[in-house]
Amino acid sequence: MKKPRAAVGNQSGRRKEASSQEGKKKCAFSSSQSKLSAPSGTIPEFSETPAGLSRQQKALLQASVSPYHLFRDVAEVTAFQESLLGWYDRKKRDLPWRRLVEGEVDLDRRAYAVWVSEVMLQQTQVATVINYYTRWMQKWPTLQDLASASLEEVNQLWAGLGYYSRGRWLQEGAQKVVEELGGHMPRTAETLQRFLPGVGRYTAGAIASIAFGQAAGVVDGNIIRVLCRVRAIGAEPSSSLVSQHLWNLAQQLVDPARPGDFNQAAMELGAIVCTPQRPLCSHCPVQSLCRARQRVEREQLSASQSLPGSGDVEECAPNTGQCPLCAPPTEPWDQTLGVTNFPRKASRKPPREECSAICVLEQPKALGGACILLVQRPNSGLLAGLWEFPSVNVNAEASGQHQREALLQELQSWVGSLPDTHLQHLGQVVHTFSHIKMTYQVYGLALEEHTPVTIVPPGARWLTREDFHTAAVSTAMKKVFRMYEGQQPGTCKGSKRSQVATLSKRKKPSPGQQVLESFFPPQVPTDAPSLNSAAQ
Ligand code: SF4
Ligand SMILES: [Zn+2]
Repeated sequence: MKKPRAAVGNQSGRRKEASSQEGKKKCAFSSSQSKLSAPSGTIPEFSETPAGLSRQQKALLQASVSPYHLFRDVAEVTAFQESLLGWYDRKKRDLPWRRLVEGEVDLDRRAYAVWVSEVMLQQTQVATVINYYTRWMQKWPTLQDLASASLEEVNQLWAGLGYYSRGRWLQEGAQKVVEELGGHMPRTAETLQRFLPGVGRYTAGAIASIAFGQAAGVVDGNIIRVLCRVRAIGAEPSSSLVSQHLWNLAQQLVDPARPGDFNQAAMELGAIVCTPQRPLCSHCPVQSLCRARQRVEREQLSASQSLPGSGDVEECAPNTGQCPLCAPPTEPWDQTLGVTNFPRKASRKPPREECSAICVLEQPKALGGACILLVQRPNSGLLAGLWEFPSVNVNAEASGQHQREALLQELQSWVGSLPDTHLQHLGQVVHTFSHIKMTYQVYGLALEEHTPVTIVPPGARWLTREDFHTAAVSTAMKKVFRMYEGQQPGTCKGSKRSQVATLSKRKKPSPGQQVLESFFPPQVPTDAPSLNSAAQ
């Protein structure tokens, strides 16, 4: 029997696995839990102070910025603030965290409500977050409630939201605040960032401005887009120079009288007006101050008159050489893109590809009803503490025979000796995590009546199908289980336990369901059904 896996996948192990290709060459498979490593950083939130920028470079940046990429004077800043806040007061969306914060006078409760919303909104759509946020705040309305929750409960509520370390950091942070600060949240952006795990410069600034009224400018994905357009910044937004300039602009613009509202207004503008693909410039409150808009008009005019440009329109005019905030000469203006010429698209590293053989092991005739085996991931790293079907990472080139042997070995390490018959390949599920494109080769194995297994070591458990659907499992596991359920004769999605049929009673396998003895597929069976899913 297998030992609990809590010790697998420590920090150093993950680093080694992430960078080493040699391990893959040495063996065709290895434990999936030790191979599925975490990204090296935190959740991307466009928040970090440009690390590589020296004081000298910052000074150089300040000195060399063309007025074209700055706000000219106080009057222009004030006009921007008033236009944006006026629009926000009229148009802001009614969102649960806004309602909660507006009606809350206790500063710690306010900060907690903002903190949860900001963490959930990192890399996740508002529409998706609303339901999770509402359930979270009902279950843990205060820091103290969250501090006494278990990681299992947190993962259970977070299931399906993705980037699971976020939930863990919230819970760890709440425990720290309760234990070390008597339940009082740090009151400034700087101390919030220093004290709370997983909180970067953006989240700290958002909490400090919205909950405590600190005049801290913030930069998130929406604000990057708005500022790059408003000040016609065409250079790569993730570069140190541009990032530093955006933070400077945000700090210059934030309204000291209403910093929380101003920051939310800027984000709201990016979310519903200055959108990535089809910005609604004619509805934009800061249209008259937008250099991207002016550039479009100038380009249209010059195209219609076949002139090189109009002399009375402001342009970037750096004193020396190429402006570091404009697009490089290799990327000229694209007339068809209009204002979406800004910001420049960041070059994205494609996720690395990995392959895993995974098995839904079921006891259809278990006492108390059919149940399936889940094992727990380590308490650190990607999908920490979540439950999943037993799996092994396999080399993408591994044969079907290798996959079967590796998987059986893994299953037996959890539940002891198993018959190797009836292990069926059901198809493949492709799931993209933040940095890994994982192909799951999905297998199913239903135990015969005479081979009941009820005892499992710590780190594993048998769950009914109903319990599986509310357990702390990732979206990828739900897809895997959907494939398993969908290929069972006599069962369907959401079927009752009594309807579960054993594999021994199945009809003749379909082309995608080969019985193991005859199953020697190519690396990726071409006739197997496939489910593709995006990140989370
Ligand atoms: S005018 Fe258009 S491009 Fe400029 S900030 Fe408004 S929506 Fe964005
Ligand atoms: Zn420029």
